[in-house]
Amino acid sequence: MEASPLRPTAQHLRRALFGAALLQALLVYAQPAAAPKPYPSPRHAYPSPRYELTAPELPDAPDEWIDRSIQWVNDILDSYGPDVVEHPVRRAALIRLDDILHIDSAPAKTLVQQFYRARIEKAVKEIEATRVTSGMRIWKLYNHGFFVRTPSVSFTFDIVPGTRAPGFEVDAKVLERLAGQSDALLISHMHNDHASQIVAKLFLDRKKPVVAPEGLWSGQDIAARLIFPKPSATTIHEIPIQNGRQVLKVVVYPGHQGARVTNNVQLLTTPDGFTVVHTGDQSGAEGPGSDFDWIANIGYQHPVDLLMPNCWTTDMQRVARGVDPKLIITGHENEMGHAVKDRRGYTQTYNHLFGSHYPFIVMGWGESYYYPK
Ligand SMILES: [Zn+2]
Ligand SMILES: [Zn+2]
Repeated sequence: MEASPLRPTAQHLRRALFGAALLQALLVYAQPAAAPKPYPSPRHAYPSPRYELTAPELPDAPDEWIDRSIQWVNDILDSYGPDVVEHPVRRAALIRLDDILHIDSAPAKTLVQQFYRARIEKAVKEIEATRVTSGMRIWKLYNHGFFVRTPSVSFTFDIVPGTRAPGFEVDAKVLERLAGQSDALLISHMHNDHASQIVAKLFLDRKKPVVAPEGLWSGQDIAARLIFPKPSATTIHEIPIQNGRQVLKVVVYPGHQGARVTNNVQLLTTPDGFTVVHTGDQSGAEGPGSDFDWIANIGYQHPVDLLMPNCWTTDMQRVARGVDPKLIITGHENEMGHAVKDRRGYTQTYNHLFGSHYPFIVMGWGESYYYPK
C-alpha cells in the first residue's frame, strides 16, 4: 500500500516539535539558576533582585495573630512617634505590618480593613484639630498620599480612598472632611492608586484646584475642570488657592513610570518658603537622556526641605542626591491593590535607604511628623 503523503509530513512535524521542546529545555537548563532559597514564599516564586532581603510570606495567617499584632503595632506607633533618630521598636512594628500586609488575602481581611480605616480617620481628626504656627507638619495617608500643612497653606498629593478590594476604603464623609482641610490636590499620574475622580470632585466642588498630569481622564467632563501645567524643569507655575488669597508655586518635572506612563514629579514651594518634592511613581531608565538628567539638578535649582519618594523609585539614593533634601519621608509602601509580589514593604524601604547620608523617616498610615524651620 502506498504510503499516505500525509505520513512523512506528520513525522517531520513530530520530530520538529520534539526538537523545539528539547532546545527549549536546554535553553532553560543553560540559564544560570537563581540559588534556591530554603524558605519558599510567594515572592520567591518571582526571582528578582527587588525581592531580595525580604522575609518569607504566608498565603494566610490566624486572625488571632493578626489582631494581636495590629493592636501592638498601633500601641508602638502611638508611643514612639516618627523621628530622624528612630526608636528601634518602630522598625520592628513596621516590619510586623509588612508580615500582615503581605498575606495574599490581607486586602479582604476585616481586621486589616478596620486597621486601615481607623488610622486614616484618626489622621483626619488630627488634621482638623491641628493649627501649624511655624514649621511644617506632614501626614502620611494611604499609599503615596500626603497632607502637608504650614502656617499659611495646606495641600495634598495623590489622595485616594483606598484600594479596589471591597471594604478597603475610607468612608466618603472622611474624604469630604479631608478635602475641607486642604487648599489643593496635586495628582502625579493616572494610576488609580494615585488618582481618584471621587477625591478630585470633592476638591473641585469646594472650588479648590486639582493639578493633574496631561491627558488625565481625557474625554470626560471632569477633565475640563483640572489644571494641567505643562511639564518643564524650568517653569514655575503659580496656582492660586484660598480664593486667590495665597499662591502655591509648582514646578512640574516631566517624569515617567517605566517607558510609557507620564508621571509628574512635583516641586511645590509654599508662601512661607517651604519646598517639598513628591515623586509620584517615578521609575525607569538611568544613563544619559534619562530623567536623571533633570533629577540630578533639582537640588541645584531649588533648596528642598522635604523629598517624598515612592519607596521603589529607581535608585532612591541617587534621586536623593539629585534633590538634596533636608529630609526624606518615603511613600508607597504596601499598596494593597498590587499582588503580593509587587507590594513593596517597609523592609525594602529600609534596605534602599541603608547608608543614606540624608536623614529619613519611615511612617505608617496616618502618622505625622513635625518639620521645624
Ligand atoms: Zn503608577
Ligand atoms: Zn503607584
